[in-house]
Amino acid sequence: MTEDLKEFDKLIREKIISDVDTMLKESKNITEKIPDIKERHEKVVNARGNVIEASVKVEMAFDELITKTGGEDLVLDAKKKELHLITGVVKEDEIRGSKGLRFSKKIEILKKILKKMDDEATYREYIQSKDWKKKNSHFVSHFKKCRKCGGTEQLDSFHISYENFGKEEVSDVEVLCWHCQLGHKSKPIELSNIPEPPLLADLKRFVALRNIFAHVPASWFAKELEFDANPRYEHYFELDPKWKSIPVAINEFMSLQKEILNLITVYIKSVVLKRELFSNILLGKSYKDILEETEKYNKSQKNKKTY
Ligand SMILES: [Zn+2]
Repeated sequence: MTEDLKEFDKLIREKIISDVDTMLKESKNITEKIPDIKERHEKVVNARGNVIEASVKVEMAFDELITKTGGEDLVLDAKKKELHLITGVVKEDEIRGSKGLRFSKKIEILKKILKKMDDEATYREYIQSKDWKKKNSHFVSHFKKCRKCGGTEQLDSFHISYENFGKEEVSDVEVLCWHCQLGHKSKPIELSNIPEPPLLADLKRFVALRNIFAHVPASWFAKELEFDANPRYEHYFELDPKWKSIPVAINEFMSLQKEILNLITVYIKSVVLKRELFSNILLGKSYKDILEETEKYNKSQKNKKTY
């Protein structure tokens, strides 16, 4: 031992600072008290790996949805005689590279798209219901004539407010004749009094779980596989305290991932189909032809395996 080291050794003993050997012994003592530490560690690492892998898949589906759909109006490509949905809400190159969109930003965009698509579907279904037909004739006999021209032929009612959607009163609608309906641009559908689409609730839980796996350490001293109970992590478990159990959290995360992927596929398909239908109408195909083609398309989709 050199003089320097001797001095250091003395210092350690005097100040009762642990030397490396003692530290090793101590840490061995501590870890020995943790049951199955190796297996547990492996399980936690695996769980985190799975969560990352699943997130990547879902994020790919997100990208597809926000670049391929906008839930926006259709635009006409006069040269090709085709109608297209305005390219997503985000251009493909905007989601890549260093300036790429963050996960949270993507979720925000997605929420808007999904809400819009869901509102439109809910609206269409309602307008075709017996319930609405009854209300329609009630409003028509209340107003008796077209609000614009005063005509009385083939009257129908239209929403001017969606505030009481499903429970409309005379102040929520206007009545128009068939002629005035032609140039009529209806109010963009925004329904505030219907429940959230299921995907939105799923997304919230998915993101919360993803954050837990990204930021909360595991607790090695708990009996079961659990996340650290330190109060500073408490807010991660606000949505569901049961997520403190790692197996519970990973199970829910994985089933959410499957559900989200399925729902996104359905949304994308419905947009692609809508685009196809509009193009066909523009190309002058008859309604009957289009229906037949749609049937064929649906059958071929059923035979295809979804991921
Ligand atoms: Zn009119």
